[in-house]
Amino acid sequence: MIIQDLNPHGGIGANCTACKIGPFQFVLDAGLHPKYAGKDSLPRLDLLPPDSVDFILLSHCHLDHLGSLPLLSRNHPRAPLFLSYPSSILVRRMLSNSLAVMKRQRSELNLPELPLYGRSDLSSLYERMEVLPLEETTLFEKEGHAIEITAYHAGHVAGAVSFELKYDGKRTFFTGDVLFNDLRTLDGAQLPRHPIDTLVMETTRGGAERPAGRQREAEIVRLLQDVRKVLNRGGSALIPVFALGRMQEMLVVLDEARKKKGPPPHSRILFWVGHGSGQPHPPDFPEFQPCPIFPQSIAKPRCPALAPQDSAWGTSPHAGHLPSKQWHDGGKHAFLHARFLHARG
Ligand SMILES: [Zn+2]
Repeated sequence: MIIQDLNPHGGIGANCTACKIGPFQFVLDAGLHPKYAGKDSLPRLDLLPPDSVDFILLSHCHLDHLGSLPLLSRNHPRAPLFLSYPSSILVRRMLSNSLAVMKRQRSELNLPELPLYGRSDLSSLYERMEVLPLEETTLFEKEGHAIEITAYHAGHVAGAVSFELKYDGKRTFFTGDVLFNDLRTLDGAQLPRHPIDTLVMETTRGGAERPAGRQREAEIVRLLQDVRKVLNRGGSALIPVFALGRMQEMLVVLDEARKKKGPPPHSRILFWVGHGSGQPHPPDFPEFQPCPIFPQSIAKPRCPALAPQDSAWGTSPHAGHLPSKQWHDGGKHAFLHARFLHARG
């Protein structure tokens, strides 16, 4: 097996891992580095000869993992993109938003290379998406050889998966971004228990323990205390969040707190949303129309879109084939108090 990290900056950022196992050349994720703009934010996709990639795996839809997928896919037009069902939906939101941001940055940052891709690149990428049901093996064949690909629920954000690849009796496991703790909106990772031969792991802290006293629940209590303090003195709380995952989690936390204690009258809590949120009702994805703010991710045990144990989640082979009722079930978890505001100027 040959593994090549194509992220030129090291660490996390433009995540992109090229891998060769037997005759199979594939790539896990193709992100954009959030601290750079234009070509500087790209992984070294140029190190892969054109049309040399057999398939692409997407672990999840954070921009540092998917932002340059349209370019990778354009260079390797025969490679299917394997991803989870929720990712097959979120990918459209995230990339459309990223394209809009790049168009704006073209003049703001005076970067004529922007946008790095166009609508037609997105359409041809979407045509090549293949949804992998969780914990079901898919066979990819080439020149009389076969490699088995299996996705596992990785926690972290909606749709995040780890991948196991089995070739010639050997199992290689790519965790991607993985979180074992349960969140309000998502169960923790459920990785396989059987032995594997090679583990490729992504980790923020490495071997370092989380500092004592900075545990999740304690941090939530601290946040709620601070928010309440601001609201009680008549202020508005402004909370910076990542658009995908963190914002939905924060909304649940605040909603729970609101139900328990009730908010001070006329209080306002605003979310400052980073890349990738956009408007609540994207014109290209009508399924979201009746429900604000990804309510699917909030209906933790009931919603097939995000409950990995649920058979509808695990077995739905194609994006868009879930009956709309299942999407709309999330409506009862919609945040009655949440409203989108648009930035001015
Ligand atoms: Zn991530």
